[in-house]
Amino acid sequence: MTSWVAADARVLVTGGAGFIGGCVVRRLLSEFGARVFNLDKLNYASDLSSIGEHANHHVLRVDLADAEATHAAVKQADPDLVMHLAAESHVDRSIDGPEVFLASNVCGTFHLLQAVRAHWEELPEARRDRFRFHHISTDEVFGSLGSEGYFSETTPYDPRSPYSASKAASDHLVSAWHHTYGLPVIMTNCSNNYGPWQYPEKLIPVVILKALSGEQIPLYGDGQNVRDWLYVEDHVDALILAALHAEPGSNYCIGGNNELTNKQVVEAICNLLDQRLSQHTSHACMITKVEDRMGHDRRYAIDATLIRNELGWAPRHTFEHGLAKTVDWYINNLDWCKRVAALSGFQGQRLGLGPDKR
Ligand code: NAD
Repeated sequence: MTSWVAADARVLVTGGAGFIGGCVVRRLLSEFGARVFNLDKLNYASDLSSIGEHANHHVLRVDLADAEATHAAVKQADPDLVMHLAAESHVDRSIDGPEVFLASNVCGTFHLLQAVRAHWEELPEARRDRFRFHHISTDEVFGSLGSEGYFSETTPYDPRSPYSASKAASDHLVSAWHHTYGLPVIMTNCSNNYGPWQYPEKLIPVVILKALSGEQIPLYGDGQNVRDWLYVEDHVDALILAALHAEPGSNYCIGGNNELTNKQVVEAICNLLDQRLSQHTSHACMITKVEDRMGHDRRYAIDATLIRNELGWAPRHTFEHGLAKTVDWYINNLDWCKRVAALSGFQGQRLGLGPDKR
C-alpha cells in the first residue's frame, strides 16, 4: 500500500500498549517506516512486549485524564496523523467501577481533542491539509439488536452499558470537534475483536485459559448472546485503510460477518483444544452456565458494505482460521498470560457482578 505515511510521517497512536493499539503500532512500524509516538497510561491491560525495541517507536507514558500532560505529549509528538484507541475497554469492569471509564474515555478524549486542535491549527498549510484524527470506536454504541437487522453508519446511538455510554460520548465529542472547529476526523465503529495478545480477561482468552488449566469454563446466562467476531489483524487492515484514505468527516462500520452465539464460540474453542490436546473427556464438559452480565446486550451485527465498497476492505481471516491461530498462540504463550496476570493481579475471577458483589 503506498501512501504519504511511508515517507517521514509522525503518527501519534493512543492506547498503543493495548491489544488493538499494539497491532496498529506493529503494522505502522513494519509496513510504513513511520515514526510512532505511543501515548498510553500503561494500565493493567497494557503490554509493550508485543512491539519490542524499535528505533522509530517512542513511548509517552501519559494519562489522557491529565489535560496538561496530554497537551505536552501532543506537542512532543508533533503528529501528521492521530489514531485514538486509548480507552478503558472492558464492559464488566465498567459495571463494577464506571468512574475511570468517564475519566479516560470521555474526559480523556476531550483533552486529546483540545490538544490536537491547538496543534492542527498551527500546522503549516501542507501538513494541515493532510492531517487526520482517527477515532476508533465500537459497535456497542448502537445498543442491542433483535434477531434481525444490522448496525450501519446511520443507526441511531443507544448505548446501554457504562462502557458503551462512555464510548458514545467520546464519538459525539469527536463529531462535534469536526462540525464546530473543522478538525479533519475519521471515525470507525467495529465489532468484537479477537486474536493474539488480548489481555486474559476477555471472553476468548478466558475460555482458552480456563480450559487449559482444567477449571470450569464460564458461560454467561443462557449463552445465546450474539456477537460479530473479527480477527484483530483484519480490523487493523480496515483502520489503516480508513486513516490513509477516508475523507474527513466520514465514518465506517467494520465487522466480520461472523455472527455467533457465545455458546458457539465457547464450543468451537473446546473443539480446537480437543484436537490439540489429548484428554479422556472433551473440554466442553467443563462449560458451566453462570449468572448473566447485568444489562447484557443480546445481539450485535454489522453491515460493513460501505467500507467494503468505498475503501475496498475485506477481512482476510475466516472465523475458523482466526480462532485456530488464536488458540495456538495462547497455548504457546502461557508464560506471557501468567506474567501479565501476575502484574495486574487478575487471576481469572468473575468481573461485572456490580460494586456490591465484588
Ligand atoms: P485494551 O484495553 O486492550 O487497550 C487499551 C489501552 O488504552 C491500554 O493500553 C490502556 O493503558 C490505554 N488507556 C486507557 N485509558 C487511558 C488513558 N486515560 N490515557 C492513556 N491511555 C489509556 O483495549 P483494546 O481492546 O485494544 O481496544 C482499543 C480501542 O478499540 C478502544 O477504544 C475500544 O473501545 C476499541 N474497540 C475495541 C474492540 C474490541 O473488541 N477489543 C472492538 C471495537 C472497538
